[in-house]
Amino acid sequence: MKKIGVLAFQGGVIEHVKKIEEIGHIPVLVKKIEDLDGIDGLILPGGESTTIGKFLIETGVKEKILSLAEQGMPMWGTCAGAILLSKTIKNQGSGVLPLLDIVIERNAYGSQLDSFKKEVFVLRFNKTTECVFIRAPKIVDVGSNVEVLAQLDTPIAVLQGTILATTFHPELTSQNYWHSFFVENVIK
Ligand code: GLN
Repeated sequence: MKKIGVLAFQGGVIEHVKKIEEIGHIPVLVKKIEDLDGIDGLILPGGESTTIGKFLIETGVKEKILSLAEQGMPMWGTCAGAILLSKTIKNQGSGVLPLLDIVIERNAYGSQLDSFKKEVFVLRFNKTTECVFIRAPKIVDVGSNVEVLAQLDTPIAVLQGTILATTFHPELTSQNYWHSFFVENVIK
Protein backbone atom coordinates (compact mmCIF):
# COMPACT_ATOMS: atom_id res chain seq x y z
CA MET A 1 0.00 0.00 0.00
CA LYS A 2 1.22 3.45 -0.89
CA LYS A 3 0.82 6.70 1.01
CA ILE A 4 -0.65 9.38 -1.22
CA GLY A 5 -0.59 12.97 0.02
CA VAL A 6 -3.52 15.21 -0.88
CA LEU A 7 -2.87 18.94 -0.54
CA ALA A 8 -5.69 19.95 1.81
CA PHE A 9 -5.81 23.75 2.00
CA GLN A 10 -8.91 24.20 -0.12
CA GLY A 11 -10.95 22.58 -2.90
CA GLY A 12 -11.88 19.01 -3.85
CA VAL A 13 -9.85 17.24 -1.15
CA ILE A 14 -12.29 14.68 0.27
CA GLU A 15 -13.21 13.29 -3.17
CA HIS A 16 -9.54 12.41 -3.86
CA VAL A 17 -9.20 10.91 -0.36
CA LYS A 18 -12.16 8.61 -1.06
CA LYS A 19 -10.75 7.51 -4.42
CA ILE A 20 -7.38 6.66 -2.87
CA GLU A 21 -9.13 4.54 -0.23
CA GLU A 22 -11.29 2.89 -2.90
CA ILE A 23 -8.23 1.69 -4.80
CA GLY A 24 -6.66 0.35 -1.61
CA HIS A 25 -4.06 2.95 -0.71
CA ILE A 26 -3.57 5.36 2.20
CA PRO A 27 -4.46 9.05 1.84
CA VAL A 28 -2.52 11.63 3.85
CA LEU A 29 -3.88 15.17 4.26
CA VAL A 30 -1.13 17.72 3.63
CA LYS A 31 -1.44 21.11 5.32
CA LYS A 32 2.05 21.64 6.70
CA ILE A 33 5.63 20.75 5.82
CA GLU A 34 5.84 17.68 8.12
CA ASP A 35 2.77 16.12 6.48
CA LEU A 36 4.91 15.58 3.37
CA ASP A 37 7.25 13.19 5.20
CA GLY A 38 6.95 9.59 4.05
CA ILE A 39 4.48 10.04 1.20
CA ASP A 40 4.99 8.25 -2.14
CA GLY A 41 3.17 10.80 -4.29
CA LEU A 42 1.18 14.02 -3.99
CA ILE A 43 -2.17 15.12 -5.44
CA LEU A 44 -2.87 18.83 -5.88
CA PRO A 45 -6.68 19.06 -6.06
CA GLY A 46 -8.99 21.40 -7.93
CA GLY A 47 -10.35 24.49 -6.27
CA GLU A 48 -9.15 28.05 -6.58
CA SER A 49 -5.55 28.19 -7.71
CA THR A 50 -4.83 31.68 -6.32
CA THR A 51 -6.07 30.70 -2.84
CA ILE A 52 -4.21 27.37 -2.80
CA GLY A 53 -1.08 29.16 -4.07
CA LYS A 54 -1.23 31.66 -1.18
CA PHE A 55 -1.42 28.86 1.39
CA LEU A 56 1.48 27.06 -0.32
CA ILE A 57 3.67 30.15 0.04
CA GLU A 58 2.57 31.19 3.56
CA THR A 59 3.10 27.73 5.09
CA GLY A 60 6.45 27.05 3.42
CA VAL A 61 4.94 23.89 1.89
CA LYS A 62 5.81 25.31 -1.54
CA GLU A 63 9.58 25.11 -0.96
CA LYS A 64 9.37 21.59 0.45
CA ILE A 65 7.30 20.38 -2.54
CA LEU A 66 9.82 21.91 -4.95
CA SER A 67 12.69 20.11 -3.23
CA LEU A 68 10.75 16.82 -3.24
CA ALA A 69 10.06 17.30 -6.97
CA GLU A 70 13.79 17.62 -7.54
CA GLN A 71 14.18 14.21 -5.89
CA GLY A 72 11.58 12.77 -8.30
CA MET A 73 8.43 12.79 -6.13
CA PRO A 74 5.44 11.98 -8.39
CA MET A 75 2.76 14.69 -8.42
CA TRP A 76 -0.65 15.05 -10.01
CA GLY A 77 -2.53 18.32 -10.36
CA THR A 78 -6.25 18.32 -11.22
CA CYS A 79 -7.71 21.56 -12.61
CA ALA A 80 -6.49 24.28 -10.17
CA GLY A 81 -3.69 21.84 -9.28
CA ALA A 82 -2.69 21.74 -12.94
CA ILE A 83 -2.59 25.56 -12.97
CA LEU A 84 -0.26 25.57 -9.95
CA LEU A 85 2.11 23.15 -11.73
CA SER A 86 2.28 25.15 -14.99
CA LYS A 87 5.48 26.92 -16.04
CA THR A 88 3.37 29.56 -17.76
CA ILE A 89 -0.13 30.81 -16.94
CA LYS A 90 -1.35 32.86 -19.87
CA ASN A 91 -1.33 36.60 -19.00
CA GLN A 92 -0.37 35.79 -15.42
CA GLY A 93 3.28 34.74 -15.08
CA SER A 94 3.92 31.26 -13.78
CA GLY A 95 2.38 28.73 -11.41
CA VAL A 96 3.51 28.62 -7.78
CA LEU A 97 5.08 25.19 -8.48
CA PRO A 98 6.27 25.67 -12.08
CA LEU A 99 7.35 22.07 -12.71
CA LEU A 100 5.46 21.27 -15.90
CA ASP A 101 6.50 22.65 -19.26
CA ILE A 102 3.06 23.81 -20.45
CA VAL A 103 1.20 27.06 -21.07
CA ILE A 104 -2.24 27.07 -19.43
CA GLU A 105 -5.12 29.52 -19.66
CA ARG A 106 -7.45 29.84 -16.67
CA ASN A 107 -11.25 29.69 -17.01
CA ALA A 108 -10.78 29.18 -20.74
CA TYR A 109 -14.09 27.51 -21.61
CA GLY A 110 -16.01 30.73 -20.98
CA SER A 111 -18.91 31.50 -18.70
CA GLN A 112 -21.65 29.61 -20.52
CA LEU A 113 -19.68 26.40 -20.55
CA ASP A 114 -18.49 26.75 -16.98
CA SER A 115 -19.18 23.09 -16.31
CA PHE A 116 -19.60 20.14 -18.65
CA LYS A 117 -19.03 16.41 -18.88
CA LYS A 118 -17.46 14.59 -21.78
CA GLU A 119 -16.58 11.00 -22.59
CA VAL A 120 -13.00 10.94 -23.84
CA PHE A 121 -11.12 7.95 -25.26
CA VAL A 122 -7.68 7.50 -23.69
CA LEU A 123 -5.33 5.41 -25.80
CA ARG A 124 -3.02 4.62 -22.88
CA PHE A 125 -5.92 2.97 -20.96
CA ASN A 126 -7.70 1.72 -24.09
CA LYS A 127 -10.83 2.99 -22.35
CA THR A 128 -13.29 5.82 -22.57
CA THR A 129 -13.14 7.95 -19.44
CA GLU A 130 -15.69 10.38 -18.13
CA CYS A 131 -14.24 13.87 -17.78
CA VAL A 132 -15.88 16.58 -15.67
CA PHE A 133 -14.80 20.15 -16.37
CA ILE A 134 -15.57 22.88 -13.82
CA ARG A 135 -14.43 26.39 -14.71
CA ALA A 136 -11.59 24.50 -16.28
CA PRO A 137 -8.35 25.81 -17.71
CA LYS A 138 -7.08 24.97 -21.19
CA ILE A 139 -3.58 23.74 -21.93
CA VAL A 140 -2.69 25.94 -24.90
CA ASP A 141 0.90 24.81 -25.48
CA VAL A 142 3.13 21.91 -24.39
CA GLY A 143 6.91 21.51 -24.39
CA SER A 144 8.54 18.80 -26.52
CA ASN A 145 9.20 16.69 -23.39
CA VAL A 146 5.51 16.58 -22.45
CA GLU A 147 3.34 13.58 -23.41
CA VAL A 148 -0.31 14.29 -24.21
CA LEU A 149 -2.48 11.49 -22.75
CA ALA A 150 -5.91 12.85 -23.64
CA GLN A 151 -7.22 15.65 -25.77
CA LEU A 152 -10.37 17.55 -26.77
CA ASP A 153 -9.63 20.55 -28.98
CA THR A 154 -6.55 21.05 -26.79
CA PRO A 155 -4.69 18.65 -24.43
CA ILE A 156 -6.63 17.82 -21.24
CA ALA A 157 -4.20 15.35 -19.65
CA VAL A 158 -0.41 15.56 -19.87
CA LEU A 159 2.55 13.76 -18.35
CA GLN A 160 6.14 14.99 -18.04
CA GLY A 161 8.32 12.46 -16.24
CA THR A 162 6.67 12.04 -12.84
CA ILE A 163 4.41 15.10 -13.13
CA LEU A 164 0.82 14.46 -14.26
CA ALA A 165 -1.81 17.13 -14.92
CA THR A 166 -5.48 16.88 -15.86
CA THR A 167 -7.68 19.91 -16.52
CA PHE A 168 -10.76 17.91 -15.47
CA HIS A 169 -11.88 16.14 -12.27
CA PRO A 170 -11.61 12.30 -12.30
CA GLU A 171 -12.38 12.31 -8.57
CA LEU A 172 -15.96 13.41 -9.34
CA THR A 173 -16.83 10.34 -11.45
CA SER A 174 -17.51 6.71 -10.53
CA GLN A 175 -14.40 5.57 -12.43
CA ASN A 176 -10.95 4.95 -10.94
CA TYR A 177 -8.81 4.89 -14.10
CA TRP A 178 -6.86 8.08 -13.48
CA HIS A 179 -6.21 7.42 -9.80
CA SER A 180 -5.05 3.88 -10.62
CA PHE A 181 -2.86 5.24 -13.42
CA PHE A 182 -1.25 7.74 -11.04
CA VAL A 183 -0.53 5.14 -8.37
CA GLU A 184 0.53 2.28 -10.67
CA ASN A 185 2.18 4.02 -13.63
CA VAL A 186 3.39 7.41 -12.40
CA ILE A 187 4.41 6.42 -8.85
CA LYS A 188 5.22 2.76 -9.78
N1 GLN B 1 -11.03 28.25 -12.20
C1 GLN B 1 -10.20 27.73 -11.14
C2 GLN B 1 -8.88 28.49 -11.05
O1 GLN B 1 -8.54 29.22 -11.92
C3 GLN B 1 -9.95 26.26 -11.31
C4 GLN B 1 -11.25 25.48 -11.27
C5 GLN B 1 -11.16 24.11 -10.70
O2 GLN B 1 -10.17 23.69 -10.09
N2 GLN B 1 -12.24 23.38 -10.85
O3 GLN B 1 -8.19 28.35 -10.09
